[in-house]
Amino acid sequence: MDHLIQRLNNSRNVLVTTHVSPDGDAIGSLLAMNLALQGKHKQVTLYNESPIPAVYRFLPLVHSVIGKLNSAAPFDTAVVLDCGDLTRVGEAASIIDQIPEVINIDHHITNTRFGTCQLIDVQACACTEILYQLFERMCVPFTRELATCIYTGILTDTGSFRFSNTSRTTFQICENMVACGVNPFQVAQHVYGTYSLGRIKLLNLALDSIEISENGKVSLMALTRAMLNETGTQPEDTDGMINYARRIQDVKIAVLIQEQTNGNAPCCAGQRCPYHVSLRSDGSVDVAAIAAIFGGGGHQSAAGFSIESTLTEIKSQILQMTEST
Ligand code: 5GP
Ligand code: MN
Repeated sequence: MDHLIQRLNNSRNVLVTTHVSPDGDAIGSLLAMNLALQGKHKQVTLYNESPIPAVYRFLPLVHSVIGKLNSAAPFDTAVVLDCGDLTRVGEAASIIDQIPEVINIDHHITNTRFGTCQLIDVQACACTEILYQLFERMCVPFTRELATCIYTGILTDTGSFRFSNTSRTTFQICENMVACGVNPFQVAQHVYGTYSLGRIKLLNLALDSIEISENGKVSLMALTRAMLNETGTQPEDTDGMINYARRIQDVKIAVLIQEQTNGNAPCCAGQRCPYHVSLRSDGSVDVAAIAAIFGGGGHQSAAGFSIESTLTEIKSQILQMTEST
C-alpha cells in the first residue's frame, strides 16, 4: 500500500475511472478518490462511459464526471476503481492503457492484476472499504462528503448489510462514517426511496418474466429493450432487480439477462443481439467461475458477463451450465 501511496503522491494529472453501468460502489469510489486527490491539490478528471443513475446524483461533485475521453496525453496517472479487468471501463480501455501509471484498486476475486500498481483485497465488501483503509493511511480527512461516498459504496455493495460480504469491519467503518456526519436515513432515501413510477412498473414486468429451472435451483429473469420503452425507463433502472429472483425459496443461482441494444430499437425475437448477464448465488455456488467461462467475472456470489446471442440460446446455455447445481 505504501508503494501505491508514493505513486499517488507523485502524480500530478490524474484520470480516475470505473466500470460501465456503474453501481453505488463504483460511483462512491470514483467520487471518494476525487475528493481525496483534490485535497492533495492534484489535477483530477473523472470518467465513466455510462450515464450516472439518477439515484446516485446526490453524491458530491457527481456532475463533474465526463462521458467521453479523447486522449491519454494530459495524464501521467490513471486510477481504475472497482474493475476486475481493464476492459470493464468500456471503450476508453485502449486510451487508459497508454497512460504511464495505471493504478488498479479493486475487490473482485477475478481481478486480472492489470496496470502498473495494484491494491486488491478480495475480502473487502466494497471498493470503498479499500479506499477507507487507503485514505486512513494517507491521513486524508474524512469530511462528511467523503464519508458519504465511502458509506454509499458499502451500503449498496453489501445489499444494505444483507449479503455474505457483510462483516464486523463493514459495521466498524460505517459507524466511523456516521460519526463523520453521514446521515444513513438520507442516503437510504436517495438510493432506495426515489424510484420513478416507470421503474416500479418495470419491476412488475421483470417479476413477470421469472422462470424457474426444472430442478427449482435456477431462476431466470429477462429484461428487454421493449420493456424499457414501454415503461419509459433506462438500463440503469434495472439495478437490484435480480435480487428478487435470488430470494425465491430453494433457488441457488439467479440469472438476469438484459438486452443491451444501443438506442431505443428493440431486438427482434430470435435475432442475435448483445446481452449482459448478471449472476447471483446463495453462496453455495461460485458464479464468478461460471461468468469466467463466458469471458466475464466478479465475486463468488455476484458476477456477470456480456454475450452476443439470442435470448433462448442464452437461457439454454446457462441452464446447461448450471444443471448439476
Ligand atoms: P452485475 O451483475 O451487477 O453487473 O455485476 C455483478 C458483479 O460482477 C460486479 O461485481 C461486477 O463488477 C462483475 N461483473 C459484471 N459483469 C462483468 C463482466 O462482464 N466482466 C467482469 N470481469 N466482471 C463483471
Ligand atoms: Mn464493488
